[in-house]
Amino acid sequence: MKTTRRDFVKSAGAGALGATLVSPTRPTQAPGVLDGNTYDVAVVGAGVFGAWSAYRLQQGGRRVALLDAYGPGNARASSGGQTRVIRMGYGDQEIYSRWSMLSLERWKSLFQSFGRSTLFQPVGVLWMARGEDPLTTKTLATLERLRVPHERLERAELDRRWPQIDFGPNTWAIHEPESGFLMAFHSVQAVVQMAKAGGVAYLQESVSPPEGEGRLDTIVTRSGKKIKAGSFVFAAGPWLPKLFPDLLGERIFPTRQEVFYFGPPAGDERFEPPAMPVWVDFADEIYGIPDFKGRGFKVAPDRHGPAFDPDAGSRVVSPETLAAVRAFVARRFPALKEAPLVGSEVCQYENTSNGDFLIDRDPERENVWLVGGGSGHGFKHGPAVGEYVAERILQGGAPDARFSLATKQKIQKRSVY
Ligand SMILES: Cc1cc2nc3c(=O)[nH]c(=O)nc-3n(C[C@H](O)[C@H](O)[C@H](O)COP(=O)(O)OP(=O)(O)OC[C@H]3O[C@@H](n4cnc5c(N)ncnc54)[C@H](O)[C@@H]3O)c2cc1C
Repeated sequence: MKTTRRDFVKSAGAGALGATLVSPTRPTQAPGVLDGNTYDVAVVGAGVFGAWSAYRLQQGGRRVALLDAYGPGNARASSGGQTRVIRMGYGDQEIYSRWSMLSLERWKSLFQSFGRSTLFQPVGVLWMARGEDPLTTKTLATLERLRVPHERLERAELDRRWPQIDFGPNTWAIHEPESGFLMAFHSVQAVVQMAKAGGVAYLQESVSPPEGEGRLDTIVTRSGKKIKAGSFVFAAGPWLPKLFPDLLGERIFPTRQEVFYFGPPAGDERFEPPAMPVWVDFADEIYGIPDFKGRGFKVAPDRHGPAFDPDAGSRVVSPETLAAVRAFVARRFPALKEAPLVGSEVCQYENTSNGDFLIDRDPERENVWLVGGGSGHGFKHGPAVGEYVAERILQGGAPDARFSLATKQKIQKRSVY
């Protein structure tokens, strides 16, 4: 029998993440605010990783509290941007391709239940490459093996299909027609709303760094509230080094990342979907998302910026990066040479040494989980991460070495893109 893509996604779920989550073993708590009771699990951080973890734990029948200092998908959070790319290509890092496949199914089904299917835009992703680029060549083999819909396009075909792009030194590309982008902060807020509707208690409070060793019993918020739980998930993204300075101060590297939105000429639809897909110019370390609903044509360098403080760092873009991005836009999208800047964002990546996520127990507190290290590519994987975390907590089992704290080095050497 022929294996369909849907079968593969199903098996990606079971294979990559183990058995499906246990069905609810007891009634979930009534929707509403934190009631002072003891929780099975308290999740700190309602970014994409924490929101999905809380949601999956609640679906697994646990009483869950979710806390966030600034609110789900807030403007300082790494999940707080307007849009995030979801693609399946990851070189030969097959686990991330599988997690993307699984996550896309989960995102779509959540959005459907939530009544906002448009939070995912299947505009296609075009990954440009030069010559024998090893990562892109490996991606091609992985997509073929996993039967992800894709096409390899040579330069003449690229020029024909997208005349508004000057492909420059790029000689070929991989097009994933069913991938695209997620409306980022709206998507996180949708997950939190679904989790709350299922009974997760949400509280907007800043949690103080946990103290002591052994089992953690209670976390305390800056305003003095105490939350007791059986297990704790710290999914605080770029704030993890502040919460765990000894463990993570030198192992998570928050970097300043700038995002620019340019306004195409009036009446020009060439930079909107369906004319324009998401694109990645891998060799130039830059990518973009088409102008959607008139918010501007997004262009963002993927190269890591300087160290950044997520609480107090300036969110104003630098003239130097703007000039470099403008020069790139003029080369690759000549019709946007004079396009005005209509918006910008400054966000931060929370990089691990090589780009692999961190999903592991605190070695000194057995019931504390550290979840983060999205490293500039984590958003799309929120559902798979949440499912993986929930399975570890509900069913036990050591995390994959790839996600362990032990594999997180103090020197950065990026290998996952
Ligand atoms: C510019 C940019 C572009 C990106 N592009 C993509 C992309 O195209 N595709 C992709 O897949 N990924 C992308 N990423 C990466 C992705 O967005 C992140 O990996 C992901 O959002 C990380 O989510 P998180 O939940 O770990 O962290 P966050 O979203 O930062 O969430 C952490 C939360 O913890 C809360 N918190 C912190 N400290 C405390 C405390 N003490 N008490 C209570 N709450 C606390 C914060 O308020 C925050 O809401 C991009 C990132 C950036 C910055």
